[in-house]
Amino acid sequence: MSTPPCPLCGEPVQRIHRHLFDRLLSLVHPVRRYRCPRFRCGWEGTLRYRADPNERADTRDLGG
Ligand SMILES: [Zn+2]
Repeated sequence: MSTPPCPLCGEPVQRIHRHLFDRLLSLVHPVRRYRCPRFRCGWEGTLRYRADPNERADTRDLGG
């Protein structure tokens, strides 16, 4: 798996546990919470990720 870069400094970010709000949000928008390992940067937030086509359990094919 590839790690997305920090939107502020470009450093590879670390994935952290999501908050409850992120869980609710992820029901609509697939997001994951990340944190920048750089102490001086300190960025933390959610980034969207591409839904894995093998894991789309709650999506329906339209017009099939
Ligand atoms: Zn950063």
